[in-house]
Amino acid sequence: MTETFPTDRAAALRRLSDFAPRMGHHYAKGRNADPGPGRRRDVSLLSPAIRHRLVTEAEVVAAAVAAHGPRAAEKFIQEVFWRSYWKGFLELRPGMWRAYQAARDADRAAMRGTALERAENGATGIGCFDDWVAELRETGWLHNHARMWFASIWVFTLKLPWTLGADFMLRHLRDGDAASNTLSWRWVAGIQTPGKHYVARAENIARYTEGRFDPAGELEEDPSPIDAPPPPRAGALPPADRVPDGPFALLLHEDDLHPESLVPPGAKVAAIAGVAVPEARSPLGCSALVAESAGAALADGLARASAQWGVPARRLTLEEVPAWAAGQGLPVVTPWAPVGWTADALAGSGVPMRRIRREWDEACWPLATKGFFPFRESIPTLLGRLLPDQPSASAR
Ligand SMILES: Cc1cc2nc3c(=O)[nH]c(=O)nc-3n(C[C@H](O)[C@H](O)[C@H](O)COP(=O)(O)OP(=O)(O)OC[C@H]3O[C@@H](n4cnc5c(N)ncnc54)[C@H](O)[C@@H]3O)c2cc1C
Repeated sequence: MTETFPTDRAAALRRLSDFAPRMGHHYAKGRNADPGPGRRRDVSLLSPAIRHRLVTEAEVVAAAVAAHGPRAAEKFIQEVFWRSYWKGFLELRPGMWRAYQAARDADRAAMRGTALERAENGATGIGCFDDWVAELRETGWLHNHARMWFASIWVFTLKLPWTLGADFMLRHLRDGDAASNTLSWRWVAGIQTPGKHYVARAENIARYTEGRFDPAGELEEDPSPIDAPPPPRAGALPPADRVPDGPFALLLHEDDLHPESLVPPGAKVAAIAGVAVPEARSPLGCSALVAESAGAALADGLARASAQWGVPARRLTLEEVPAWAAGQGLPVVTPWAPVGWTADALAGSGVPMRRIRREWDEACWPLATKGFFPFRESIPTLLGRLLPDQPSASAR
């Protein structure tokens, strides 16, 4: 049996409700173990749904607090906030995304020999790594611990550029996300927190895969961190726009597909369309699975938006966006696309858009100025601000 990954909101809400009872001590105790496909009960498998905001971070965290209280669900809540932290970190430093793209392209151009091809085809001879490549290609997902081991082996044992590993994952992950992906790779390589790298050890892999793998003697277990400049200082978060008082056209995209909780009640949505460009993740495009998954999520978002505001909604190609926008003769409003390929594509369309931001992002992103640990200190305050209907952070 393999896992399934919700590509519509109804299925994501079912998964959320099924997993909520395990967001407390089951998660804290079991989240690091990867017993293999079809046997993972202690992680939510919600990342593709959260990535597209078929369910929002606020809903997921609220479910954890409601089921267990903020203390017993602390670990799960923190992991969701890792996502918000990474998103904010990149949003305050958009140049890091451009630097990643340039380094990726230069690293690919400089590649010689067949090591990259062998890694991407799962033909390295390192059993666990080759198995994860196959799983990633077949399912579009990997367990968090497997992603950490994978990235570490890629960088330190196979000695391949981290940028090409991030690119490979982005092409194949259903939850592929510019911030969580590239910054996690930097963290593993030891360039996000300079000098601190993550080293995959055979003993750790054997323990947390419950003996499925034992790469003893196959891994570089004493590497030096990669030498690279540290992340730049944080800039200011650009201001978001307001929803117009009069009628407007709503343009959805794969980064935020729950417009019902984003667009204020009473707003005059007069036209709706959506665009998804998952193939813009990489110059090499994306897998068919990723394209299908993003397309299904967008179709679901458009269907719900159409039902909510009583206007037809359709998917456009990026090239069709300017003519659609001109044809409406209305201001175009779009959910804030965070730094990444969708934001690049929308900016490149040349259509002026009003970009509106969720309170969640407004509250979290400006706090991503330093490391995660100072950010984490703000979680109780953030919960009080963002989940006003829940028991206060200190209540349980
Ligand atoms: C090298 C590497 C690459 C990664 N690339 C991505 C990526 O492209 N997209 C992505 O969404 N996550 C990425 N992650 C983070 C993490 O591995 C996944 O979010 C997680 O495995 C998803 O599984 P889950 O939904 O069962 O998570 P759960 O453990 O159930 O956690 C709940 C939610 O919290 C968030 N979350 C959990 N752990 C992390 C984390 N470490 N960083 C950021 N958010 C987290 C996710 O939205 C997740 O769905 C990456 C991690 C590493 C080490």
